[in-house]
Amino acid sequence: MPGELAVDESLSTSSDVINSGDSDSGVLAAVFHDARRGIEFCRFPRPEVQVGETLVRIHCCTLCGSDLHTISGRRTERSPSILGHEILGVVEDVSDAPVLDLQGNAIRRGDRVTWAICVSCRECDRCQAGLPQKCRELRKYGHALAEGRFALSGGLAEAVLLRSNTAIIKVPVGLPDLVACPANCATATVMAAFNAIGSVEGKRVLLLGAGLLGLTAAAVAQTRGAAAITASDPLTERVRLAEKFGADGKIDCSEFDVVMDFSGSVDAIEAAVKVAGVGAKIVLVGAVMKCDDIRLNPEQVIRKCWQIFGIHNYAPVDLMDAICFLRDHHHTYPFADLVSEEFPLQEIDKAIRYADAKRPIRVAVRPETCDERN
Ligand SMILES: [Zn+2]
Ligand SMILES: [Zn+2]
Repeated sequence: MPGELAVDESLSTSSDVINSGDSDSGVLAAVFHDARRGIEFCRFPRPEVQVGETLVRIHCCTLCGSDLHTISGRRTERSPSILGHEILGVVEDVSDAPVLDLQGNAIRRGDRVTWAICVSCRECDRCQAGLPQKCRELRKYGHALAEGRFALSGGLAEAVLLRSNTAIIKVPVGLPDLVACPANCATATVMAAFNAIGSVEGKRVLLLGAGLLGLTAAAVAQTRGAAAITASDPLTERVRLAEKFGADGKIDCSEFDVVMDFSGSVDAIEAAVKVAGVGAKIVLVGAVMKCDDIRLNPEQVIRKCWQIFGIHNYAPVDLMDAICFLRDHHHTYPFADLVSEEFPLQEIDKAIRYADAKRPIRVAVRPETCDERN
């Protein structure tokens, strides 16, 4: 709730911050304190890269729903922090010891890159078990305290310092900034869901929620040969938009083989479970805030041989799939139209007000220092 978050006043007196004015030195960042105090601008010293690290000049950051929930106080994160995790930028500096991208190529200055939100140790039991996003030493971009060497870890800033072990991917030439920007949250999470459930070829797919994840899922389901794709959303314009991403115009299935929830709505999930057929795969992705329990009849689960999947974040391979999917299909589906407005970083408050009022799929925030645009 607004006002209940602990306010860490240390930032304003910390040596991490060189000033909060409009000096040319350092890196400008929008620092979120709490729902009441909001966002204040600070300048941080430009970090020197150490072994395995990469300094990226941010080109754009799209505001994800979770950022907006944090800013409004509906979701609690540690603060002060630099929010924004759907980030794309250009490598400004990289350690002399080579840093490799997900394909094993050396990262160089000038590369246009994005990277996985989660940084994992790659060694603990969870990493070894294929859940690097649940690593016991997990670090996340856009969700960390703005302090210490890695203060610059969020997208609402001019630069971000990538830790060693970050799963970095070079963004293909021809894939526009604003299409690729949400890949490391929305698109990669959708890919994690599809990679978890296996083939959807010939399957009837029900999608709950036609925001960026649901729209992306419709497109993925279509490209993977789903027999029927139904998108459900309280906003009729979003249901219509889903048709441009591969969803069928009308609901003519009485039951479904795959039910994917991106809405987080308990009511929607309960209603959808009633139309899950024998052998259905039920995939829960959207409920990432506190929510009520759902009623699920265990006899139904057993007799219908349902499988239930919980998908939270993703592994690096899913990010690779996300970028490849967007590279191959961004001309087929209107992903470029989903970022409805761009704001300079200095007008972050305006961007947030716009996002709250208009509820677009995404808005983008770009530092004014970003001069090359793709
Ligand atoms: Zn996100
Ligand atoms: Zn680990």
